[in-house]
Amino acid sequence: MSALRQLLKSVFAAALPQSWLMTHGPRAAVSQQQEIALTFDDGPHPEHTPRLLDALAAAGAKGTFFVIGEQTLRHPNLVRRIADEGHEIGNHTWTHSEPAQTSAVRFLEEVTQTRQMIQNLTGRDCRMMRPPKGALTVGKTLGLWRRQQTIALWNSDPKDYAMTDEIELLRWLDGYRPRTGDIVLLHDNPPRAAVAVERLTRHDLRFVTLSEWLDRSCPVNVAESLRDSNPVLGQLCSEEAANVR
Ligand SMILES: [Zn+2]
Repeated sequence: MSALRQLLKSVFAAALPQSWLMTHGPRAAVSQQQEIALTFDDGPHPEHTPRLLDALAAAGAKGTFFVIGEQTLRHPNLVRRIADEGHEIGNHTWTHSEPAQTSAVRFLEEVTQTRQMIQNLTGRDCRMMRPPKGALTVGKTLGLWRRQQTIALWNSDPKDYAMTDEIELLRWLDGYRPRTGDIVLLHDNPPRAAVAVERLTRHDLRFVTLSEWLDRSCPVNVAESLRDSNPVLGQLCSEEAANVR
């Protein structure tokens, strides 16, 4: 699993269009400001997500929230608030089940269920998908592409989920040197993401959503581009579709 993930990140990311797999955004700056994408996984959380949204609003920043379907069911108004305030909502499966224990069929069912929930709550389709732990198999990967989902990973990870207090996160942030195109992985189920936003505003940064980058660089249909540009992967994708049915 780990080996496949490394392969995906190091080889595929360089070879595939960003609409299939993002590990970072465009590295070329379009203005004087550096541009990075903040991503927040595992919410929404009834206490920490509102505080984070307040911090983002104060900073004039947009982020991408990879929500867990079960959590959206518990906190639908928070999902609406995230969307209403101009942030992007991504799919992080329905239950966040352990990847190694989750078949491709179940994983893809969870993705579909969560996507439907997001659509129902916000009126918008969801195209960004982040697998729990970034872990995928070939079957899951092809299933996501067939469903027009962009697999969104990251390149900067403070491992905030393993930290016990804000000091550790602030220490990481003080050593972090933002570079245009960075995708920073944070979580809004622990209480520290708002602090991270506040600290990052010390830099002259513009915070963008993942789709803003994608729309700028690669406005293509995943499945069509898969078929058109790579018949072998297109065939695998069709075979995966048959298996899932
Ligand atoms: Zn997660």
